[in-house]
Amino acid sequence: MDRYYVLGNPIAHSRSPRIHSAFAAALGQELSYEARLVPLEGFAREIELLKQEGFRGCNVTVPFKEQAFRAADRLSDRASLAGAVNTLSYDGGILSGDNTDGEGLARDLACLGVPLEGRSVLLLGAGGAARGIVASLLQGHPRRLHIANRTVSRAGALADLARSSPMAGSCDVSSSGFEEAEGDFDLIINATSASLSGEIPPFPGSLLHEGVFAYDLMYAPEDTPFVARARSLGAGAADGLGMLVEQAAESFRIWRGVRPDTADLKDRLRQEMRRG
Ligand code: NAP
Repeated sequence: MDRYYVLGNPIAHSRSPRIHSAFAAALGQELSYEARLVPLEGFAREIELLKQEGFRGCNVTVPFKEQAFRAADRLSDRASLAGAVNTLSYDGGILSGDNTDGEGLARDLACLGVPLEGRSVLLLGAGGAARGIVASLLQGHPRRLHIANRTVSRAGALADLARSSPMAGSCDVSSSGFEEAEGDFDLIINATSASLSGEIPPFPGSLLHEGVFAYDLMYAPEDTPFVARARSLGAGAADGLGMLVEQAAESFRIWRGVRPDTADLKDRLRQEMRRG
């Protein structure tokens, strides 16, 4: 039986075993998928174990995505731009690294009926998650991508990277601090971890109004502060549970060559999360 797992620290909260088992069951595929807590200094040893124990691949979560990037023998274009890997595949002695976060977001936005083509997008945050989704945002051909972050230099560095990528096309890429973000945005994506501490990045409130769609990468049983603020101002909004399922489906496709259906599982996970 082919074996996969998710590694991270902490890992107990991970929904990946639940999601991949559901995909395998729905497709009648026999595989095992477990969660492994890896000591903070233990990533290199873990990769040796993955190879020795005959695993076919693993998902990588906080705080190992950059180390996985460095450990891979081969990288996809989107992983190269992200500088981070969340999906490792081991085949024929080669460790290949990919990043499925951006594809996960793009697919969830498509499911939600939120277009990217020709639109103006504000990306809040310039950490690992923001870097992971920039390539997919650019591939959707937005007219404008503005990156705003608490540490302004990180927003600038990510904007420079995006601008110089072959995926940038004619997209107008710019950057600033949160307060200085200005324009008429169609889509505002919160890729900061501010929601974890119950905060909302301090971008101008006037940017959120009817006709704008707000997407928070974080997910929670109840509305995150960002989602709640957006809804209260008449904007459409969603959290990142759908992205979580879609990025897992993309990892599954990379490993198994078939993309699972996601709609039912998104609904079931939402209900399970609300039940606690
Ligand atoms: P990270 O690498 O630690 O980056 C955190 C980002 O948030 C940085 O831009 C940081 O700004 C900013 N930030 C932190 N606290 C803030 C605050 N109080 N106010 C304003 N900005 C703040 O984390 P990450 O890996 O990018 O993860 C970000 C979020 O995405 C997390 O909530 C994570 O759960 C979520 N995520 C979801 C999915 C999914 O599938 N749904 C996938 C990946 C990540 P500085 O640069 O100034 O430090």
